[in-house]
Amino acid sequence: MSALGIYCADCGTECERITGREAGAREPDLLDAQVWACTVCPEAWAPCAADGSAIGLPAGEKTREARAMLRERQVERLIGEALRHCPNGRTIAGERVASFLAHALRLPATEAAIDCLNLEWCRHAWRALQGASYADVTKHAQTYRPRKAA
Ligand SMILES: [Zn+2]
Repeated sequence: MSALGIYCADCGTECERITGREAGAREPDLLDAQVWACTVCPEAWAPCAADGSAIGLPAGEKTREARAMLRERQVERLIGEALRHCPNGRTIAGERVASFLAHALRLPATEAAIDCLNLEWCRHAWRALQGASYADVTKHAQTYRPRKAA
C-alpha cells in the first residue's frame, strides 16, 4: 500500500504527507495530525489513516463539500429509509447503497467510495441516487452478486 502513490482527486498530482495546518485544514482535530495534501491545489487534502494510507483521496474544499452533500442528502436518505424498516440495519444498508452506487457508476467499489470521488463523479453519483429508493437498492442487492475473491 505504501508503495502506491496517493493522487489528488481534483488534479491527479501525487500528494505528500504534511500536517493539517500546513495543508490549510481548519478542523481543530486535524491541525497537528498528518494529512495527505496535493502539492498543487490549495487546501486539497485527505485525512491520514492509522496505517499511513489516505482516507479517501485528497481533494479541495468544493469537492469535499460535494461529497458531504451527497452523503447527507442522498446516501443518508436511502439509509434512513432502510432504518425505518430495520433499525439495526445501518451497516448492511450502507454496504448495499455503496454497492448500488458503484454499479450505477460502473466503477469498482473502492473507486466509487464517496471519499474517493472528484467533483464530476459526485455529480454522476448524485444523479444516480436522486431518483432511487431503498427498494431499488434492495432489488439490486438481491439480483446482482459482485464476484468476490475467496
Ligand atoms: Zn490537486
